[in-house]
Amino acid sequence: MSRPAQHTAAIVVIDAVLFTLCIFGVYNVSQKPWLDAHLAGSPDHIIIEKLHADPDETSLRVGDVLISVNEREVSTPQEVEFILDGKRIGDRVILDIVRNDISYYFTETLVPYYSSTYMVIMFVVGCLFFSLGVFVYFQRPFDKGARVFHWANLSVSVIIFTTWGNYAVDPYGLGHVVRIVFCLAYVLAPVLFLHFTFVFPRDKFSGLGRYYLPFYGIAAILFGWICATYIAAIDSGSMEYVRYHLTGFNATRIFFSMCVIGAIISIQHSYHTAIEELERRKLRWIMLGLVFGPLAYILFWQLPSTVFSRVLISEEVILIVLSIVPITFAISIIHYRLFNIDVIFYRTTVYAIVIVILLMGYSIIVGGVASLMNTFTVTSSIIVSAGSAVLAALLFQPLRMTVQNVVDKGWFSLQSNYREVLRLLREDIRHTIDSKQLAQVVIKRIESVIHAEKIGIMIHYSNDAGFKMLACTNIEGKIQQKPLLQILHAMDHYKIASVGDRFVEQGIEYYDLSDAFQKHQGIVLILPVPQESKDTVCCMILGEKINGTRYSLEDIDLLSKIAVQAGYALERILLQKQLVLEHAAAHRHEELSRMKSYFVSSVSHELKTPLTSIRLFAEMLRDKKKLSPRKYIEYLQIIEGESERLQRLIENILDFSKIERGIKEYHFERIEFNEVVRRVLKLFRYQLMIHHFRVATRISRKHFYIQGDTDALIEVIMNLLSNAIKYSTETKYISVVTALKQGDVSVSVTDRGIGICESEFKKIFKPYYRCQDESSSKTVGSGLGLALVNHIVTAHDGRVEVSSKPGKGSTFTIHLPQYSHN
Ligand code: ADP
Repeated sequence: MSRPAQHTAAIVVIDAVLFTLCIFGVYNVSQKPWLDAHLAGSPDHIIIEKLHADPDETSLRVGDVLISVNEREVSTPQEVEFILDGKRIGDRVILDIVRNDISYYFTETLVPYYSSTYMVIMFVVGCLFFSLGVFVYFQRPFDKGARVFHWANLSVSVIIFTTWGNYAVDPYGLGHVVRIVFCLAYVLAPVLFLHFTFVFPRDKFSGLGRYYLPFYGIAAILFGWICATYIAAIDSGSMEYVRYHLTGFNATRIFFSMCVIGAIISIQHSYHTAIEELERRKLRWIMLGLVFGPLAYILFWQLPSTVFSRVLISEEVILIVLSIVPITFAISIIHYRLFNIDVIFYRTTVYAIVIVILLMGYSIIVGGVASLMNTFTVTSSIIVSAGSAVLAALLFQPLRMTVQNVVDKGWFSLQSNYREVLRLLREDIRHTIDSKQLAQVVIKRIESVIHAEKIGIMIHYSNDAGFKMLACTNIEGKIQQKPLLQILHAMDHYKIASVGDRFVEQGIEYYDLSDAFQKHQGIVLILPVPQESKDTVCCMILGEKINGTRYSLEDIDLLSKIAVQAGYALERILLQKQLVLEHAAAHRHEELSRMKSYFVSSVSHELKTPLTSIRLFAEMLRDKKKLSPRKYIEYLQIIEGESERLQRLIENILDFSKIERGIKEYHFERIEFNEVVRRVLKLFRYQLMIHHFRVATRISRKHFYIQGDTDALIEVIMNLLSNAIKYSTETKYISVVTALKQGDVSVSVTDRGIGICESEFKKIFKPYYRCQDESSSKTVGSGLGLALVNHIVTAHDGRVEVSSKPGKGSTFTIHLPQYSHN
């Protein structure tokens, strides 16, 4: 098994064990007993604060001071919880209480600590944390952030599923294990959370271990402390150990809060030092989770319970709110593009701040009144609550606007310095050389002042089928083409077209899009980019503004000015492009005629050379008597060789003209390749001999079958051999080798001639191309041979390879697919 697979297997086992323990944990939690009353801790004693059932003569009353439970003295509600955790629901306990300085003993029956609603919510939220942890891990097992997230999530779900109490449940000993795992999760969760912020979205520092290992060290010490005191407290039953344990637990809580604060600072730091927008996007998700999770917990639970001794939302709601955390974290790790985080983040920030301010105000008024309850009647307290609620409702809108302005300035740093933007744009535009670059620059400048969800610039050339997107942000897929063109033609004197009043401020004239466009793809605004020429139509398209406000008069004014500038620049770019194209066409034309005249001169030269020698040797042959038989045969061979050369040249030209006109035909049949190569070698025997070549051949005796056109392939090999002869200098050596490898039949022709430099490898296969170096220009040629080779081989589904070094020689290899019956 490979290492990752081993890891995965181990993690599956650990996760399964943990989940089983969590289920036992849930059972333990459901069995957690409590008094049928609400206890409040004061510095030195416990007071009965609220009763669930109606009190009678023989039971507890609000205001009673609790002294001991089952004769064990208690001074904090936590201690009571610890003692009661050894009991079961339905057990009876003896309470010693003091009422009006008189001591009483009551026997109370224990009831369930948690309601069934809480149990259901706890189970769902716990499962959510657990499953997201496992899911993220298996989605990205190689991502360090995902791995740490997995463990952090599992720890949190253990904390949710289990509780810090309970040690006397069946089967015996299991309660201990669950409790120890709970303690471990409790110390580990915050450190893992902090650790996560150090490695996500990338490692924060080098030598990271130095930074987070001390935290794990503290966690280990705390774990040792709370576990040891817990076991000692159960074994000895002594209240002293219980207190040590609780002190350790409170220290762990402080550590927990410190780690969470550290993690929040660390995330903030990562955000501000992030180099890429992508990282910032990921971190915004995390921050969104933090706004909902820990921050909501502190503001609605921790803070009010410290200040007013009461909470603003119940434990159930806290759990539900907390469940947003793993979701946003998981999105950040796996799928950060899921929604437009900017919009979500912006709106959440604004509304969260508004709601927090209003709730704080509300709770200060109502809480203040509640603590002065004695002097107020119930009716007046209702009036105060209702009045505060009305006030909050009235204040909501103006407060939202104010906060929005502050956030706009702070977070999005909106400066209304439009003139500066236009100046910068003019400067940027001056350096743009193509339309895409221009569109990108324009979008960048718009984005610096107007935060739209989407921005795009589209162009339509009259000779093209539809609009093309030159550049865009957040637009995926196609924009409706037809209506867009119609709209732009119909807009006439309107500067803008919009979907409706909801998106532009009142008083701005616009061409109404609502019927034609229907807020397609979130586009709410269209601005034409004016063009002199009727050949192109260009426009800017925009989505809603991120902060949810409408486009103002200033925005539209700025956008129209940007559009005009972009229009001028676009015209210049298109004109330049046209000039460049015309220039290139003229150049191509010139090049072609130059190549053709070069071709004609080199072809006539190539025709003339063999013809001259044919004529010369034919004349010499006429005078038979003076010649020795050896010479006679030699002259004949020369004539034969030269006519062969002539024939190939003519064939090449004819063939190439067929290729150019698209009428070259191939007659494919099953042929034996080695045989073809042997045939060509035979044809070249005399030429090679005359030029004194040493020829090494390795032609396999086996049959290499291919599907091919024999004549065309003969031409290919002949061209390669003829080049090898032509471009050889002092070392006259040629080798021809055939091979069969993995269904690939090949023939290589090697020479030790002038060679070719690498930069020419591709060019030599182009028609009429001849290397420009000195050695090549000494030989004559048409520049068609290799172009023909390439065409024929490609038509056979094969390929040509060349390897060569100047001055050392070249090898041309042809690869063709082996014939298979299927
Ligand atoms: P031609 O040989 O008629 O010029 P080709 O198309 O056959 O045309 O070859 C194109 C160019 O490739 C030649 O001009 C030559 O510079 C180079 N070339 C082809 N084969 C060889 C070779 N075996 N050794 C060196 N250069 C070669």
